[in-house]
This record gives sequence, C-alpha cells and structure tokens, in this order.
Amino acid sequence: MRIIDARELTVPLEARVANSLVDFSKMTVSMVAVVSDIKRRGRPIVGYGFNSIGRYAQGGLLRERFLPRLLTTDPEALVDDAGLPDPTCVVASLMRNEKPGGHGERSAAVAAVELAVWDLLAKLEEKPLYQVLAERFGDGKADHTVSVYAAGGYYASGGAAERRESLQRELRGYLDLGYRTVKIKIGGEPLDDDLRRVEAALEVVPDPRRLAVDANGRLEHSAAIQYVDALAPIGLRWMEEMCDPLDYALQAQLCAHTERPFATGENLFSVQDVRNLVRYAGLRPDRDLLQMDPGLSYGLVEFVRMLDAIEERGWSRRSVLPHGGHLMGLHAAAGLRLGGCESYPGVFSPFSGFGPVAIEGGAVTIPDTPGIGLETKPELAPTLQALTA
Ligand code: MG
Repeated sequence: MRIIDARELTVPLEARVANSLVDFSKMTVSMVAVVSDIKRRGRPIVGYGFNSIGRYAQGGLLRERFLPRLLTTDPEALVDDAGLPDPTCVVASLMRNEKPGGHGERSAAVAAVELAVWDLLAKLEEKPLYQVLAERFGDGKADHTVSVYAAGGYYASGGAAERRESLQRELRGYLDLGYRTVKIKIGGEPLDDDLRRVEAALEVVPDPRRLAVDANGRLEHSAAIQYVDALAPIGLRWMEEMCDPLDYALQAQLCAHTERPFATGENLFSVQDVRNLVRYAGLRPDRDLLQMDPGLSYGLVEFVRMLDAIEERGWSRRSVLPHGGHLMGLHAAAGLRLGGCESYPGVFSPFSGFGPVAIEGGAVTIPDTPGIGLETKPELAPTLQALTA
C-alpha cells in the first residue's frame, strides 16, 4: 500500500451559537483525505479525518508543511511489516523538523492527517475503527455501547423569558432523543443570571447529577472561586473548564474548595500537558473527568500515550470522555474502553453526530461500518465528494 495523494479542504461549521468566549458562526474545520493505491470496485480506497471542532481549519499548516512531508516520505517508511499504513510512522514523518513544546495549532493539523490514516487502515482491514483500536491497543475486546451526554445550552439571543424557554425546549429535546445527561454553558453572563439558567435547566432535568456546566476556561481567579462556591451545593454532575485550562495552580485551588467533580482537558494537546495536569492540578482520580480530544491533539497515537500517562498516576481510562461529539471520539471511547464521550445533537453540523444511530438510555450502539464511517453521514457527502473529485 502506498499513499499516493493527500488533500485538505476548509469547511465552515454550521453553528449559530456562542459560548462564554467563542462565536461559532465564524468557525471552520479542516477535512483531510489520504488516497491509497489500493482499489476496490475500481475506486481507490480513501481515508478521511478532520481536526474536531473548536480550533479552526489548518489549511495553511497542512498545505505548507504537513501534506508535503507526508507525500515526500519514502512510502516504505509509512507502513508496518504487513504493508499496512502505520499511524505512528506517519506522525513521525509529519513531525520532522518540528521543535518540542508549544503545540499550538499544529497538533490539530497533524490530528486530521493521522485520523485519516486510521480511517484508511481500518478500511483496508475491513473493520470498524473501534475494533482496530481494541486489537492494536488492548485485548481485542471493545465496548459496543458507549455512554454519551448531550452538550448544548449555548447562549441564545432574545429576551430573558424567551431565552429561558428556548433553553428548556432544547434540553427537553435532548431527553426526548434518549439522552440522560445534558450540559449547558455558563460563564458568559453575570453569576446570578447563570444561576438562573441552571435553575431553568433543573426544571427540565430533574436530577442535578444529570446536569453538567461548562465555563470554557473563561473565569479569572476570584470569579472562578465565586462560581464554584455558588454551584457546588447544587450537586451537579460536573463543572467543566472553570478556569484557564493551563492554570493548574488555580484548578488545584478550585479542587480544594469542593468535593464536587470537575472536568477539563479538551484544550490540552500533548501527552506532556496531560502529564502535568494530573501531576499539578489537584484533580482527583476517583471523581474528576478528563476530556482530551484526539482530533485536536495529534490523533490517536498521542491520545493512547495520554491514557498511559494518566494510568501511571492511578487514573482509570473510564474517567476519560473525549470532547468533540464526533465519530472519531465515539470510536476512541468504544475501542479504548473509555467512560463515554460528548455528543452535539443540535449543533456543529456537518461534523458533529454519529450518523444513523439511536440513543437509548443515554448510550449509543456503535455502528460497524468499516473505518470511521464518515460516509454514513449524508450531510458530509458534498465535502467528501469535493475532496476526491
Ligand atoms: Mg467544554
């Protein structure tokens, strides 16, 4: 097998929503295709991947550095002994002439290519990606159902009553779809207003242990402490990114303020950052949650290194729920037997969503389409066609 071509395309996110920091209507994503020289039914087998949601498209880095490196590497250096694409070797080739540290945006660019290579590998093996992951990194056993939670509750426009009603309608819709746990945004309004949003949500989600909140790293020192003190007595499922994701000292202070669980990690892009998080942020392996996203952080090889790093510090991989609400995170959760993953039922088309699957009792039964299964999402068809035209 040889990779004979690799292409990228910038695709806008269809999302008219905002959290406490980001207006997603301006957000873009890079979709990557790696084309092999193996044909089935007269057509080359192609792997597809993308760089999750939340860090913009990386077309410049892909065109100027990473795709040329991939395509000028000796093809023999990109395959394993069986002649199949080897994602570890692919990442090594992409990372030639790159300094350590300062992971920035390149981790998302590399991730899109690496995930496309995993898709290609799984298609060549004619297996779903989760099964390939279970065989490469475990004993071959995967979880066939994955616990998912509905992430939404973004800030809407309109008057207070209208916004409250729209939040409640949205959350009721998630419960009707089969989700049990939902998450809403906080940190974008004064604390009292955010507390009223939480109250409104709890009129729909009757058990606070089924509601999580996400401040997207927005809160500065004293505000973060105020929010945590106000929210802790409510007994929510978790409080997410209550402070800057790299401010481990402040996170440790927040952990000292309450027994209630925190979640963070979606904005950590390397094993070194994750190792430092579990060393220095005061997080507790028996209750806190980690949300690293392979689509933002160099892909699945690096993600497995992160799992190894947390397990060395006494964490279970069941404490990991990848960010992103995409099929790549769902395969990681099933194949690496994580605690579940995020889902965006209402926003971030065409990248969010798991294709034609039903949610039952807050869980998804993972489809067994070979590869990642991005072809099963009709809303992605124009993007995939444009890439391989
Ligand atoms: Mg989040």
